[in-house]
Amino acid sequence: MGRCSFCGRTVPAENLFRGVDNQYICFDCVENAHTIIEEQFSDDESDDDEGTVTKERKRRQEKGRAEAELAGINTKKLTMKTLPKPEKIKSFLDQYVIGQDDAKKYLSVSVYNHYKRLLQPDTNDGVEIEKSNIILVGSTGTGKTLMARTIAKMLAVPFTIVDATVLTEAGYVGEDVESLLVRLLQEADYNLEKTERGIVFIDEIDKIARKSDNPSITRDVSGEGVQQALLKLLEGSIVNVPPKGGRKHPEQEFIHVNTQNILFICGGAFDGIERKIAQRLNTQVVGFESQEKTKRIDKENLLQYVAPQDLKAFGLIPEIIGRLPIITYLEPLDRAALKRILCEPKNAITKQYQKLLKMDGIELTFEEAALDYIVDKAIEFKLGARGLRSLTETIMMDVMFEIPKHDFVVTRSLAEAKLAKIDANRMVG
Ligand code: ADP
Repeated sequence: MGRCSFCGRTVPAENLFRGVDNQYICFDCVENAHTIIEEQFSDDESDDDEGTVTKERKRRQEKGRAEAELAGINTKKLTMKTLPKPEKIKSFLDQYVIGQDDAKKYLSVSVYNHYKRLLQPDTNDGVEIEKSNIILVGSTGTGKTLMARTIAKMLAVPFTIVDATVLTEAGYVGEDVESLLVRLLQEADYNLEKTERGIVFIDEIDKIARKSDNPSITRDVSGEGVQQALLKLLEGSIVNVPPKGGRKHPEQEFIHVNTQNILFICGGAFDGIERKIAQRLNTQVVGFESQEKTKRIDKENLLQYVAPQDLKAFGLIPEIIGRLPIITYLEPLDRAALKRILCEPKNAITKQYQKLLKMDGIELTFEEAALDYIVDKAIEFKLGARGLRSLTETIMMDVMFEIPKHDFVVTRSLAEAKLAKIDANRMVG
C-alpha cells in the first residue's frame, strides 16, 4: 500500500506512479486530471463560428449526463467498475419509456456489451468479443427513437441518430452513407478515437428495403444500392469521410474512420412484415404438433416472432441481416399503455403542463376521465402515442392563453369541448 500525495488516499502500491522526491500519484487522480483536461480542450475548440450548433449539442449532452448521473450512472469514465450494468440501463430507460420490456432488455445488454468490448483486455487467448449490432422492429410511434434518444443521455460514447430515408434521396449514394459518420464525428468534437467507439442509430431502415420483389411497386433498385453502401460501414472498414466544416482540418481532405468498433442500432416499422411472419409460421407448423403450436401463437402480436428470414422476405439483403445479429421487437401500444404515457414518463406531457402552470402559481390536475378521453381520441384518429401530445396541446391552448386564476382541473367535458371541432388531419405527431 502507498499514499497518493495528490488526494491523500491510501491505495495499493501497483496503482501509484512515483515522481521526484518520493511523491506519488494514484491512477484515479491521473484519470480525473485527464478527463478535466480533455473537457477543457474540447470546450476551447468549440468556440468558433460553428459555436451555436456546438453549444446546443453540448448543452444537450450535459443535460442528458446530469439526468443519468442523478440515476447513479457515470457517463464520463469507462471502467469495469463504473460501467452501468444492463439492469441499471434498463431501469433508466423505464423512467422514460413505457412498456417494451423485451426491446429494453436487448438494447441494455447490447450497449453493455459494447462497453465491455471497448474495455476488453489485450490477451492472447484468441477470444475477441465481436460487436453485436441490433435491429428494433416495431410500428411507428411505439418508442424506437425515444429509446435511442434516452439511451444517448447516459452514454459515455458519442451517439447520433440518422434517418435512412435521407440516404436514398441523394444521387451520390456512397457519399451520403458516409455522411452518417460525419454526424458521429461532430458529436465527438472531431475526436477520431472517440468517434470510432461511438454508437449510431439508423432509423427507418425498412425504407431502404429492396422493393423489386414486390410486383405491386415500381422496381426500385436504389434501396439495394444504399444497403450495399451501408454494409461497408456495418462490416467494419476504414471509410474516408469528408469532414464537414473543414475549417477545423484545413490540412486534410478526408478523415479515415474505422467503423470496426462502432455499434449500429437500426430501427424500422417494417409495415406488413406480419404477413411474412404469418406465412413462415404457417409453413413451419406442419405435422403432428401443428395444432398445438398454432394455438400457442399469439396472432394479435406476430411481431414478437420476427426472425432474420422475415427481414429477408421484406427486402433487406442477407449480408445486412447477417451484420445485425440481434433482432428484437416493440409491442403495439394498447389503451392502458397510452394512458400511462400521458402521465408516467419523467417528462410526460401532463407533467410538462403542470410544471408550466406551477410557474404561474397554479396547481393543475387532469381528471381520469379526461385522460381516458384523450386516449380514446388518439386511438380513434389512429394517431398512436404521437397524437397524445397534439391532442393535449389542443385542449390546453386556451387554458394556457388565459392562465387560470385558481387551481385548475382539466375535466372530460372540457376535453370534449376543445376537441369537438378539430380535424384529425391537423393532428400530427
Ligand atoms: P418510433 O421511433 O417508434 O416511430 P417515437 O419513439 O418517435 O416512435 O415515438 C413518438 C413519441 O411518442 C415519443 O416522442 C413519445 O412521446 C411517445 N412514445 C412512443 N412510444 C412510447 C413509449 N413506449 N413510452 C413513452 N412514450 C412513448
